Amino acid sequence: MTDVLVIGTGAVGCAVAAVLADQGRDVVLAGVPQPTDASQVAAGMIAPLSEAALDPAARDGAAVLNAGAGLWPAFAERFGVPLRRCGGLLLAPDAPAGDHARFPGERIDLSEARSLTPFLERWAGAIHWLPEEGAVDAAAALACLAAEVVRRGGRRIEAPVAAAPDGSWLFPGGRIRAGRTVLATGQAGQAMAGEVPELGCLAPIRGQILRTAPGTVVPSAPFIRGPGAYVVPQSDGTAMIGATMEAGTDSLAPSEATTRALMGATDGFAPTLASQAVIARVGVRAATPDALPMVGPCSRPDLLLATGLRRNGWLLAPLVAGMIADYLAGEDPGPHARRLDPQRFERP
Ligand SMILES: Cc1cc2nc3c(=O)[nH]c(=O)nc-3n(C[C@H](O)[C@H](O)[C@H](O)COP(=O)(O)OP(=O)(O)OC[C@H]3O[C@@H](n4cnc5c(N)ncnc54)[C@H](O)[C@@H]3O)c2cc1C
Repeated sequence: MTDVLVIGTGAVGCAVAAVLADQGRDVVLAGVPQPTDASQVAAGMIAPLSEAALDPAARDGAAVLNAGAGLWPAFAERFGVPLRRCGGLLLAPDAPAGDHARFPGERIDLSEARSLTPFLERWAGAIHWLPEEGAVDAAAALACLAAEVVRRGGRRIEAPVAAAPDGSWLFPGGRIRAGRTVLATGQAGQAMAGEVPELGCLAPIRGQILRTAPGTVVPSAPFIRGPGAYVVPQSDGTAMIGATMEAGTDSLAPSEATTRALMGATDGFAPTLASQAVIARVGVRAATPDALPMVGPCSRPDLLLATGLRRNGWLLAPLVAGMIADYLAGEDPGPHARRLDPQRFERP
């Protein structure tokens, strides 16, 4: 009998398993990373302030986002995940000064912004500088965390697992039984709603994102978030240009029209980048009705949920991992536990 089985090798599953392995727990991480996993295609921004400014649904959960970001530096150091402290530039439409109150950071002009990144070539509206925001390379961070699980004594099952009627989990060629199981299964977890009713509330949000060739941008440059598109430099000089939020859709096929729309929005502030050749990728985010994740015990006593991370799974991975570790240790999972309770949607 394994102590803890973590199902799902996205940002959340890998972070949870790494923290548990680091605590010396007997942990098995199950799943096969897919190139279309939301965690793999993500831009990797650790950006709570610009998220709360741009996404009305995130504003209500700003305290949760800030808590996640606050844990990142120590988490990155603990597991050797390269965290770029690149900062971010938030472009606001040209509007009366009072309308910028909800935009955080220091307001700077275009020439100051261009001294931070030459890729911002034009912008007539306001520019807000957020030096504390950062980013990770998603694929590299995933590989790093998965390797840290094994290095710290955890084990891997590199296969999908399926629930067996007796409470064990089946995979090709084997069966595993665990004291507790953590479902970090992203949107795919909705398929288990028959056994875990809480997962029935998950809804897909498709996201298309574009990649330029490596060497296009300076890796340490700040990311830029403009209307309709953002540009996030990666450590190999690739620019990630994203991303759509297409609620209710889970098609993984990239769309030409969407690529054109993203490039058109990018042209409004970074025309040189908007003329680059790009490769389009798609991932599907899992969203809950209140846009906050489900973290903790659920109606099945042998299971904990760590899902519904919507558009902030990288940002929140250390917070979610710490909370799951606390639940498993019987300790206080912290001030956000009630907000993120997987059973909150059944409460009046
Ligand atoms: C285009 C795009 C850009 C994004 N940009 C950002 C960003 O800049 N910053 C940020 O914080 N977030 C971003 N996100 C959101 C972030 O990617 C997600 O919130 C996060 O990846 C969710 O991670 P996860 O581990 O919950 O899910 P996933 O990445 O979906 O991983 C779930 C894993 O579970 C596996 N699984 C499911 N069922 C089983 C099973 N039965 N057995 C084994 N394995 C199973 C799946 O195959 C998958 O590998 C972005 C998302 C998209 C799509």
